[in-house]
Amino acid sequence: MSNPATKKQEKIYVKAVNGKFRTIRWLFLWTLLGIYFLLPWIKVDGRQALLFDIPARKFYVFGIIIWPQDIYILAFILILLAIGLFFFTAIAGRLWCGYGCPQTVFTDLFLWIERIFEGDRQNQIKLDKSKWTLEKAAKKTWKHLAWITASFLTAFTFVSYFVPPGILIERTVSAALTNANIFWLALFTITTYWDCGGFREQMCIYVCPYGRFQGAMFDPQTLVIAYDKSRGEPRDIFRRGVERKAGNCVDCSMCVQACPTGIDIRNGLQIECIACAQCIDTCNSVMKKIGFSQGLIRYGAMASFEGQKIKVMRPRVIAYAVILFFMASGIVYDFAGRKTMAIDIIRSRTSLYNIMPDGRVSNVYTIKAMNMDTKEHTYKIIADGLNNAEIVMAGNPIFVKSGEVYTADVYLITDKKTLDTKIIRFNFILQDIDNPMLMAKKQSTFFTAMN
Ligand code: SF4
Ligand code: SF4
Repeated sequence: MSNPATKKQEKIYVKAVNGKFRTIRWLFLWTLLGIYFLLPWIKVDGRQALLFDIPARKFYVFGIIIWPQDIYILAFILILLAIGLFFFTAIAGRLWCGYGCPQTVFTDLFLWIERIFEGDRQNQIKLDKSKWTLEKAAKKTWKHLAWITASFLTAFTFVSYFVPPGILIERTVSAALTNANIFWLALFTITTYWDCGGFREQMCIYVCPYGRFQGAMFDPQTLVIAYDKSRGEPRDIFRRGVERKAGNCVDCSMCVQACPTGIDIRNGLQIECIACAQCIDTCNSVMKKIGFSQGLIRYGAMASFEGQKIKVMRPRVIAYAVILFFMASGIVYDFAGRKTMAIDIIRSRTSLYNIMPDGRVSNVYTIKAMNMDTKEHTYKIIADGLNNAEIVMAGNPIFVKSGEVYTADVYLITDKKTLDTKIIRFNFILQDIDNPMLMAKKQSTFFTAMN
């Protein structure tokens, strides 16, 4: 038996459609593409609104700075989004696939470009079957050039979420792109071109795990796109002026021609269906033309197609909603109590302590004061729990810009007489000058000789 994943895939020529759902999908498509391409240029508090600064190990998310110690929050948000998708799928089926998934949006964009140069389905089939002429070569060349340009812009924008776009343009113009920049730009350009230009629906059918496990999330109450068999069958072609004994389906195959995954919705619910509603729009236009009521293919729960009542609140939907509520509350609570400052201490490795000419003892530390807030702050460093300790460093209080780490060597000096053990535990405290209630502390040790 041949493996569908490895057998050579026939090209699917998708017929352009017009209709209510296609209009909504165009709106989604241009809005989502607009957000994707413009977001790297938008600033919040003077910084790129969404920037994943991997070398600095900081993520800037709409005015919030995510530090390495906050990464667990991102992990929770990803889990929350996954459960949100389960919840959404249980109610609305594959709406995400048809309207919001980047694979659908970018493939749609590439199909749109293809139609500009090669025309609609019939023209594309004719062109592919025709002999190579100058005109055919020109059409194909322009189409591929447009696809490559779109792929490069997509890749450039994607990399701009990691390297600010201004810097990326500067480096491109002055031929100073780093090897990493070139690698990621090339990789995303090639994969976008290959995926949206050629692989297309096979990504949804053979690669995407969401399509595979959605079966477990569907039940008869889930919103799907389906063909109304009871109304459509038996099928027969339409003959104007002849009394019709068959059902409403006129077997025109327009729904199959408009389907980007090449399936026939009349064969029932299929894993390949990405719920794009192209078949609804095209069938509705056929029904309108021949004077039948619309909705032979339509949105609905399988239960409603079988004449049963739809129940939105089902045990699995309630369970997902409860989990979502508690997880979202936990994340908000945790985020609200998140510290906006932190201090880290590293003891000098060269000597445990030094006895100074005046007999006092000194220990050396490197302090790292982190300002995780979106505003700049002035902090004071205090040694708490060490009698008569004097802090010697280049400037105290210190001024730390938003999102920055202030690193300095600190000499802690105290009178030996005040010490009663060889090792004293104490706390370094970082205190905000303007709001002394704001502070962060870190325990450390002070060593001395006891003879
Ligand atoms: S578009 Fe409608 S009428 Fe035509 S084949 Fe499909 S279901 Fe039947
Ligand atoms: S069957 Fe209809 S909704 Fe499903 S992928 Fe094909 S055209 Fe889109």
